Amino acid sequence: MACYNDCATIRSSSSSLKRHMSRKLLVAFALIAVLSLGALMHIRARDAVIITLNFEFLRQGTAGVISLSGPDLVGGVVSAFERTYPFFSVTGGFAALLAVPMEQRIRDYPITVTIYRANGETLTWEGTVKVTSGEFIREPMFILPSEKLHLLDMSVQENEDARMNSIYSVVTPERFWEGQFSLPANAPTTSPFGSVRDFNDGSTRRHSGCDFQVPVGTPVKASASGRVVYARPLDIHGNNVIIDHGWGVLSNYSHLSQIFVVPGQIVLQGEVIGLSGNTGRSTGPHLHWEIAVNGVLVDPMDFIRLKMPT
Ligand SMILES: [Zn+2]
Repeated sequence: MACYNDCATIRSSSSSLKRHMSRKLLVAFALIAVLSLGALMHIRARDAVIITLNFEFLRQGTAGVISLSGPDLVGGVVSAFERTYPFFSVTGGFAALLAVPMEQRIRDYPITVTIYRANGETLTWEGTVKVTSGEFIREPMFILPSEKLHLLDMSVQENEDARMNSIYSVVTPERFWEGQFSLPANAPTTSPFGSVRDFNDGSTRRHSGCDFQVPVGTPVKASASGRVVYARPLDIHGNNVIIDHGWGVLSNYSHLSQIFVVPGQIVLQGEVIGLSGNTGRSTGPHLHWEIAVNGVLVDPMDFIRLKMPT
């Protein structure tokens, strides 16, 4: 485990920065809170702004938590992978969810944390974050029946991608969930997130979610509490429900045979939102489950292990 204290660079839009820097107490950066906070005990708490990354690296298609604490903070943003990720208020500070797209190349990337203070100061920390392999698999060829082959047309794919992206890019400041996300069905998974899929028309796609082996008619449960923002058919995803959990986190449930919820409805974690099916671009009965963080699709099975500060 490493500490970012030595490699941190600090910029400020305020002249008061120099006063703080002269005491070398302005901003302390820590990687892995438990160990690094111990190393920072010599820093007076009233002066320190502490950034804590709960990860040493991020795999492709996963998310991690960055926490922020210190005096007189009013918020901030994380910039990485050509995106920005907002901080949200939690007990004792702020937290942000940093998500890595599955296609992100494996290497170190610059990361910038911009911190806003009540007196108008803007502080900036620049570091690096390591992206490692998602270890995605290649699946056996998918054979779509002839009546569904048109669903592989690029125009169909692009239309649906655009619609999903517009829904997934919404960041609701209100947080509807607590604790960890849960599985939408108690069933074995059959196809992991990010897998490479060859279809019988010669095209290749990446799997945008995780599949569960369930017969048609199996109850599908909300992974976490939230507000339904979509509940109708799509060409590829079939009968589809999307739940906005707040803080830029949305979950998606596809290929359903029945939908029990309507847009605007608040659902609780574990509530049945529909029944599984085989609608859309599906080669057999199953449940397809997606989670997006700030518009980035992440591995749902990895995301449910994440603990957000409250
Ligand atoms: Zn799927």
